[in-house]
Amino acid sequence: MSARPATPGELPSLDRLLSQPAYAPLHETFGRSQVVAAARQQLQALRERALAGALDLAELDLGVLAKVTEQTLLARNAPRLRAVFNLTGTVLHTNLGRALLPDEAVDAVLRALTRPANLEFDLETGARGDRDDLVEDLLCELTGAEAATVVNNNAAAVLLMLNALADRREVIVSRGELVEIGGAFRIPDIMKRAGARLVEVGTTNRTHAADYANAMGARTAMLMKVHCSNYAVTGFTKSVSVAEVAALAHAQGLPATVDLGSGTLLDLTQWGLPREDTVRDTIEAGADLVTFSGDKLLGGPQAGLLVGRADLIRKIKKNPLKRALRVGKLTLAALEPVLALYRAPEKLAERLTTLRLLTRGQRQMQAQAERLRAGVQQAVGPEFGVEGAAMFSQIGSGALPVDQLPSFGLAIRYLGRGRPGRHLERLQAGLRGLARPVIGRIEDDVFWLDLRCLEARDEAEFAAQLTEPIA
Ligand SMILES: *Cc1c(COP(=O)(O)O)cnc(C)c1O
Repeated sequence: MSARPATPGELPSLDRLLSQPAYAPLHETFGRSQVVAAARQQLQALRERALAGALDLAELDLGVLAKVTEQTLLARNAPRLRAVFNLTGTVLHTNLGRALLPDEAVDAVLRALTRPANLEFDLETGARGDRDDLVEDLLCELTGAEAATVVNNNAAAVLLMLNALADRREVIVSRGELVEIGGAFRIPDIMKRAGARLVEVGTTNRTHAADYANAMGARTAMLMKVHCSNYAVTGFTKSVSVAEVAALAHAQGLPATVDLGSGTLLDLTQWGLPREDTVRDTIEAGADLVTFSGDKLLGGPQAGLLVGRADLIRKIKKNPLKRALRVGKLTLAALEPVLALYRAPEKLAERLTTLRLLTRGQRQMQAQAERLRAGVQQAVGPEFGVEGAAMFSQIGSGALPVDQLPSFGLAIRYLGRGRPGRHLERLQAGLRGLARPVIGRIEDDVFWLDLRCLEARDEAEFAAQLTEPIA
């Protein structure tokens, strides 16, 4: 290596640099304008360092310069949205994209992306169609509702419902159900934005039927119940059932609505999962409208589903906000095959990715932990100890927050002296820095890698990343 600093006069010209043979494939891959801009910036930075006497002559080797340009371009063009390994133990992890779609949905999205489709086109009459028609029948069949419509997400569904049915009127909600979900979605705020006036009744822990009854008046538009998705009210509590709320509303000719949040279509206890009222149960109990998410327990794409009485759905579809909140064809393409899977419930745990992950057997994950343990130990180095360990996963996305699923994975402990926190954080950052980042969680001075969401088809890719030491 040369030890002599380079002078600015020794820098190659932009033209000379770009005419090097090593640049030809870069022009081909990235396009000329991008390569020129990167090389110009690179030369500018080198010139500044040369002026400061801080540039080594060896850095001006034309091969080295081309390599640097290539790396800059590769880094700049790397996708920002990247696949990761979700080993957090939270299956429906909002920050990691919630539900993973089954292959049927992926194929349908691919076709919709690359071929024209009858999105709003009635193939029988040749007239203009309605995009909701693509999934409305299925939604009605699966929920027992008369009608259905789809918007961007459940927050949008709630906003639209409130604006369409309660603009400048009152909506009665129990104080025990004024939830905040993920910070940006709070029932009182959505209510305000929708133009509806919130009337809170009852107390945080106890609300009685009489509380609703006493609050009803000439300005009341609806009674609304909200699923306590991400918290539980326990102890001395009382809430009023959907059936009771519906009876109270109906006695005054008003609708009762329910924001179910996760909204499952089938009774999950048949798969050993916690009990949760289904959308059908809620409709049967008397709810006139139910809103729920497409990408939580349902296991589909991000969407907000509104199902219920035909006259109310008609009103909602006429609201101008519906146009602003509607879903695109990719969502509908993905949603239809996911809903169709529910027609064969006995196959669902195999075919619907979310349910398959939620129902994975602990023994299977334990065997996986045994296969992967040595590789992970090798990668994290002797400062850490890696062991197979039983742990608990969560469903996530505000579904059934108190219920935990017995799981299995790897527990990594710091073996050195001193407090482990900093060392575990370094390890965590190292795993995040992998080509396909591995996301785990630190709890009780242990770094946990829950294997529930590492399906067989991803295991080899996970193991292949462990051949190099991690940070
Ligand atoms: C998750 C949730 C929402 C928001 O649903 P998104 O699909 O994330 O917009 C609204 N209400 C409840 C009760 C929820 O659990």
